[in-house]
Amino acid sequence: MEQTLVILKPGTIARGLVGDVLTRFQRKGLKICGMKMMQLDEPLLREHYAHLTDRPFFPLILNSMMAYPVIVMVLEGKDAVTVVRSMTGATNCRKAEPGTIRGDFGMSGQENIVHASDSPEHARVEIDRFFRPEEIFNYTLPTIGVTYAPDEL
Ligand code: ADP
Repeated sequence: MEQTLVILKPGTIARGLVGDVLTRFQRKGLKICGMKMMQLDEPLLREHYAHLTDRPFFPLILNSMMAYPVIVMVLEGKDAVTVVRSMTGATNCRKAEPGTIRGDFGMSGQENIVHASDSPEHARVEIDRFFRPEEIFNYTLPTIGVTYAPDEL
């Protein structure tokens, strides 16, 4: 099974949307393997958003991502990276399809509810960036046999 990293961004905590977003992932059948609240700082954000540090809006991202604590989580499931990205929707909430998390809960390009890893390779790096090994739990959900067909396990 594949794992991916999700961050519930500060605006999601501030707007009281944590439960709504988390429920979607659980209803989908994804397993929560790790979850914690933390305050992000500039060094960690410069590493996490290294591909954006030269963009003019990067200072706005820094401010926004440090404005309130975040909730980081490791979600697991078959093809979890692709599944979670498709549930997340396009970067700009105004362009994200209705039915996606960004499409249903946001109106902004920057304040876009969640971060989700964009490839299995990045997911591995991002999970290691935010979690120590002992913070990730290895267990089997009792519903696994009705969530997947035998040949999918
Ligand atoms: P995604 O989060 O969809 O993988 P990116 O990795 O391109 O998208 O961008 C990371 C985050 O930076 C976005 O989620 C968004 O919060 C912010 N961002 C990206 N592009 C812009 C932009 N043009 N203006 C403001 N914020 C942006």
